[in-house]
Amino acid sequence: MIKVFKFGGASVKDSTAVRNMARIVGSYARHPLVVVVSAMGKTTNAIERIHAARFNGESYEEEFNEVAQYHRQLTDELFGDNPTGRLALEAQLNAFLHALSQPCSPHFDQEYDTLIGYGELLSTAIIAAFLQKEKIPSRWMDARELIVTDNRFRDARVNWEESALRMNSVKHALSENQLCVLQGFIGATLDGRSTSLGREGSDFTAAIMAYLLDATDVTIWKDVPGMLNADPKKFKDTVKLDRISFKEAIELAYYGASVIHPKTIKPLQNKGIPLHIKSFVDPDASGSVIQEGGENDQLVASYIVKDSQTLFSISTRDFSFIVEDNLKEIFGTLSELGIRVHLMENSAISFSIVFDTDKHKQQLLIEQLQANYSVKFNEELTLLTIRHGNEESIKKLKNPGQTLIEQRTRHTMRMVMKPQKAQ
Ligand code: ASP
Ligand code: MG
Repeated sequence: MIKVFKFGGASVKDSTAVRNMARIVGSYARHPLVVVVSAMGKTTNAIERIHAARFNGESYEEEFNEVAQYHRQLTDELFGDNPTGRLALEAQLNAFLHALSQPCSPHFDQEYDTLIGYGELLSTAIIAAFLQKEKIPSRWMDARELIVTDNRFRDARVNWEESALRMNSVKHALSENQLCVLQGFIGATLDGRSTSLGREGSDFTAAIMAYLLDATDVTIWKDVPGMLNADPKKFKDTVKLDRISFKEAIELAYYGASVIHPKTIKPLQNKGIPLHIKSFVDPDASGSVIQEGGENDQLVASYIVKDSQTLFSISTRDFSFIVEDNLKEIFGTLSELGIRVHLMENSAISFSIVFDTDKHKQQLLIEQLQANYSVKFNEELTLLTIRHGNEESIKKLKNPGQTLIEQRTRHTMRMVMKPQKAQ
């Protein structure tokens, strides 16, 4: 009957948030509980800057001190005179300083992974100690000893067999009615080098733990009431999707819905483990659930917006048709450059693709293709996907701008648009 909870950076961003989180955890403490926690607030971004500065031989001390200060203040607010929080925090800060003091190798991604997990290590050190102080028996665990990965730094793949073998310590703690607190987003190779699972990867960690422990369910606690049909920062009148299928959640994540990390669903779907998305502001509200069964998938139209898109139109120089051999060559180049295509369309003599704007890669793409193709491109576009929509759904869009490409299938409409300039 194990449950897995995940708390993201916003849910632990200050001492009030941590107290709230502890209350939620405490109210479920009768269950065997694994709690996955992200770095506090925007700490991961700060550590990315520390890493970049260190890598370039620039000074990073000030940024480090800010990170340390932020955590110290939060800890003091939570613990008052009780020294346990500060002790746990200072131990991790020292480990972080030690990692920073090591000679920096020329491997950018590997160096990144030796540092980036400290956001999660600091946050979990404070939180595990705080839960203890609040008389919620808890054990701090090191995700680098639990989640084994390959050595693709910054985008590591899970070694499921080896990780499964590491679950005994978790099961043991749970059997002693201890709640397990561990870091999201990080793991380590078999030989002990730190790795990370990609930005926002803590959701995925929760899914990995649920899969390995055969949990009954996973809950991601967020600052929104559940899975919404659009980003409330971009749309008014959003609607909550009460229940959708795993398959629909994968589709939405594919088109760019950003509530959950896209890799999260697969392990849960494989074992039929439901994923709840609930509000940490209103923990008793029902939230959303993603599980087997697609009866409700089409009830509400969802809107997914990807900004900063580039449209490339690639035509043969001699006006010959674009045929399979051309596509093979073009896709070979895209794959080499690591360009992820979000939408494509072809006509007799041209082939169009849409991907995240990246000036550097665009330049390389043009260089590689220009011998045989002429290339035109358009930047700063928006790719809008509407799932389960109709004509009415399009009319609801305010200020839609000029549509450059439109594609429709039974359940999905996609439009590449040039946004109207603000007046
Ligand atoms: N702290 C990491 C990030 O900000 C992982 C996560 O929050 O899921 O990307
Ligand atoms: Mg985060």
